[in-house]
Amino acid sequence: MVTDPGDVLETVECAPGAPSVVLTFDDGPHPPDTDTLLDVLAHEQVRAVFCLVGEQVVAHPDVVRRIVDQGHVLGNHSFHHHDMQEWAPDQVREDLQRTLEVIDGAAPGAPVPYFRAPFGHWGRAIPVATGLGMRPLGWQLAVGDWDPPGVGELVNGMTGVAPGGIVLLHDGGGDRSQTVEAVAALIPRLRADGWTFAVPG
Ligand SMILES: [Zn+2]
Repeated sequence: MVTDPGDVLETVECAPGAPSVVLTFDDGPHPPDTDTLLDVLAHEQVRAVFCLVGEQVVAHPDVVRRIVDQGHVLGNHSFHHHDMQEWAPDQVREDLQRTLEVIDGAAPGAPVPYFRAPFGHWGRAIPVATGLGMRPLGWQLAVGDWDPPGVGELVNGMTGVAPGGIVLLHDGGGDRSQTVEAVAALIPRLRADGWTFAVPG
């Protein structure tokens, strides 16, 4: 199936009987949670998508380099995580370009193939992002980790994932130690059930 590059990507294709899941982490880089998460993902040999906030990139460029060095995929998640719903295209473009510049400053040459609007409020951002070479990245399942409900609840929340589903999680924007702990518990559990971990192509 050919999809329009302007479509918001919510699932990836996977073969029947071979379900995959895409883990995405927003609002970082955010030490120490991002570092701990990177340790977990390295240990489990799982690649993920990190949707970065520009001001966090400026504060923690070393963590951005580590994300890239470990083979993860980058997304642009705006400079200040402001709601862009009502923004004019030029305002969106300026913000996204500034964010791309600081990402490139932290990890020169690293591709940024995805854009995710803060709060999923796309407004008029989709054609702007597409014009800058980024595909809009949505999600099939939001686990609700922005209001930490406990590790067990987070793990249970992941059971709603569909084959090929893109899952929204957070490594930044607050204390995400519960998310990291839940991911560490979840990866072996999903693997035991036959799931694999993918990044979108
Ligand atoms: Zn966010």
